[in-house]
Amino acid sequence: MTEPHYLNNQLMIEDVSLSQLAKEVGTPCYVYSRSELERNYLAYRHALDAFDSQRHKVCFAVKANSNIGVLSVLANLGSGFDIVSIGELERVLLAGGDPSQIVFSGVAKLRNEIERALDVGIHCFNVESETELQRLASIAEEKNCIAPISIRVNPDVDAETHPYISTGLKENKFGINIDQALDIYLRAQQCSSIRIIGIDCHIGSQLTTTAPFIDALQRVLTLVDQLEANGITLEHIDVGGGLGVTYQQEQPPTPGDYVQQLMQVLGDRPQTLLMEPGRSIAANAGVLLTRVDTIKTSDDRHFAIVDAAMNDMIRPALYSAWMDIVPLQANSSAQSHEYDIVGPVCETGDFLGKQRTLAIAEGDLLSVNSAGAYGFVMSSNYNSRVRAAEVMVQGASYQIVRQRETLEDLVKGESIVS
Ligand SMILES: *Cc1c(COP(=O)(O)O)cnc(C)c1O
Repeated sequence: MTEPHYLNNQLMIEDVSLSQLAKEVGTPCYVYSRSELERNYLAYRHALDAFDSQRHKVCFAVKANSNIGVLSVLANLGSGFDIVSIGELERVLLAGGDPSQIVFSGVAKLRNEIERALDVGIHCFNVESETELQRLASIAEEKNCIAPISIRVNPDVDAETHPYISTGLKENKFGINIDQALDIYLRAQQCSSIRIIGIDCHIGSQLTTTAPFIDALQRVLTLVDQLEANGITLEHIDVGGGLGVTYQQEQPPTPGDYVQQLMQVLGDRPQTLLMEPGRSIAANAGVLLTRVDTIKTSDDRHFAIVDAAMNDMIRPALYSAWMDIVPLQANSSAQSHEYDIVGPVCETGDFLGKQRTLAIAEGDLLSVNSAGAYGFVMSSNYNSRVRAAEVMVQGASYQIVRQRETLEDLVKGESIVS
């Protein structure tokens, strides 16, 4: 079993007891399961292989979890990667990722980022504006090379997810309005340093139904036909990421169901299908471990102040996200109460969960589940807190894939004014 599960009253990831791990590594710490990462990635691959092996690409969205250990597990399986910065590019290369399987997304790519990506020979630039297209064309020309591109269109569909993670509406900053995309493609066709290879969209994150994806794909295909009529034949269609996961009661489609529905819409079109899943590969492959530091009761409210905080895991504070919080082992001598699980940061928004019925005492260890995506990557040093360690479990063993920061790390590069 690769998801967290109890064995003899001990929460386990694979064959590692998380209490034991927390004792050895300390808290807060992120723990990932190698086999769960692999299983989630392979769910996409196998679904795609059922239609046409080799051709399709699954490009893990690095922004969901950019730890080099995590990326190396996926690179070992031959995964592609979707990046949004030069920092993510360097991480993928360090992890052993294949540059020719990298797609570069993001609303504004800087000159140095474009240069580096051209130098290493990435698969495709997902262009998000006309300015970017021109910048890319002129840099490629200077370097005497040809930049492969896809235009990210904004299909104007409502992903019906949290507004902060909805990206496919006209009012969002992402992509090129689908009505203007044909013009931009025609302009791109005139540039000798640009090679048009695809089209992409990404409408949002944590989608729990396929309808918005299918809606977006149909709009994209209308444009693909228009392009064809204008002499522009595409090699790939990139549907982005966004498939949701179960945090609480959500019942998102499986990657298998999702791929099957996409394929039905694509029919016998010749284009390769590209996907950029992030959350659905990493979220349920990770947990955040934390220790109850202080139990505090005021009037009728119970607070469990834990050693992880919004700087370690911002999803509850930022999106009001609900994350499951469970003890690493049942405490039979503690009384059960409804707790707000909060961190030590000086913000009222600093909570990991509210109104959770738990039987816990000071010193107990808790797991914040489904924390493998948009967890550590969004962490900060706010309140001058060092960032957590990250650990990869495989089988009965584990490896620290990022050391906990030290107080020296915290002030690295800073100096007093002389
Ligand atoms: C964030 C993002 C993804 C990944 O989204 P998930 O919801 O994590 O699957 C894919 N593509 C682009 C362009 C993104 O910005």
